[in-house]
Amino acid sequence: MNGNSQSHQGMQQNPHSSNGQGPAPKRKVYVRKKVCKFCADRNIKIDYKDIGLLKQFTTEAGKILARRITGTCATHQRKLTSAVKIARTMALMPFTSGHTV
Ligand SMILES: [Zn+2]
Repeated sequence: MNGNSQSHQGMQQNPHSSNGQGPAPKRKVYVRKKVCKFCADRNIKIDYKDIGLLKQFTTEAGKILARRITGTCATHQRKLTSAVKIARTMALMPFTSGHTV
């Protein structure tokens, strides 16, 4: 005789029906909106001698990254660009290959 009384399948009702709302961000990270690095940190100074800093905004080839990629604002991007150009002239940074000046 089959005494199968272990079929408890009536527990499929989920009281938590919060589906369709997407992920709820509990921690607010400031990644969503790109803020200019130099505006966020006023202590950072754009200096053509600061190669380590400039390299963060250039490719390995020495190309200056676009503003929308780095999130740098127009003012600082401009300063950055001139700093990179000076650094190139001072042979601190590589020129873009195939780019003749
Ligand atoms: Zn800025």
